[in-house]
Amino acid sequence: MSKVLVFGHQNPDTDAIGAAISYAALQRELGMDAEAVALGEPNEETKYALDYFHLQAPRVIEKVTDETQDVMLVDHNEFQQSVSDIAEATILSVVDHHRIANFETASPLYYRAEPVGCTSTIILKLYKEKDIAVVPEIAGIMLSAIISDTLLFKSPTCTPEDEAACHELAKIANVDLKTYGLDLLKAGTNLENKSIEELLDLDAKSFTMGDKTVRIAQVNTVDIEEVLTRQFDLETAMEKLNLENSYDLFLLVITNILDSNSELLAIGDPVDKVEEAFDVSLDKNRAFLKGVVSRKKQVVPPLQNVF
Ligand code: MN
Ligand code: MN
Repeated sequence: MSKVLVFGHQNPDTDAIGAAISYAALQRELGMDAEAVALGEPNEETKYALDYFHLQAPRVIEKVTDETQDVMLVDHNEFQQSVSDIAEATILSVVDHHRIANFETASPLYYRAEPVGCTSTIILKLYKEKDIAVVPEIAGIMLSAIISDTLLFKSPTCTPEDEAACHELAKIANVDLKTYGLDLLKAGTNLENKSIEELLDLDAKSFTMGDKTVRIAQVNTVDIEEVLTRQFDLETAMEKLNLENSYDLFLLVITNILDSNSELLAIGDPVDKVEEAFDVSLDKNRAFLKGVVSRKKQVVPPLQNVF
């Protein structure tokens, strides 16, 4: 029997890697010589999950056909998201929760697609259908994938099945979902490893408002207070950037991806326009913006209106 490589999409997220690991493990239980591999290094969030559950990061591959013909795809099906030589490989199976596009095979295959929030939710069903128990570390990486894909059930893509699967896996892995989930997502935002300059440049754009130049940066986090432990350094850097680049006003929007609120940090002039735009009072250059997550839709237009 030939070797089978199991992998998710390029630029892998936690589901791409977690689903490859769990699906390859299932296939081995079923007697296949299956190995989970990846089309890229794990991101910070995935690394956190792998470390937590003492799992090895899958080997990163560029091509498959120099080592085997047979592959199984998880968390993707579109060829342009897959391995470079996918067209020359034999796809034995696909387990996925994305649209089906640009997909064609020469031979029959097993194809499982469901419109749920995470591939790992489907893989849990496959374990049950085959009457195979999920071991704790595999449960751990599977529940991590569900937390990641659904932002701990907050994403509109999350279904009741994802939530139920995640709770079931949390029992097997023996983790507290809320605590672990927050830690995992926080590891993904990983702002503490970013310099102040990187943080302010990560996603910054300049806008002309009236006769002023307003610079607006946004960072995502699961812990706004943690970002603001560096408030003094942020303010110093924002002042410097204003001076060097002739920005009148620098706004940093720190968005909590879990509760969909933001904290605004404003340095420069005119701050009264900022207070007017959001109907807030700045306290120590800060204001809470309830329900604000989108710069494009919720930050720029009200500012533009008052300038
Ligand atoms: Mn994915
Ligand atoms: Mn996914």
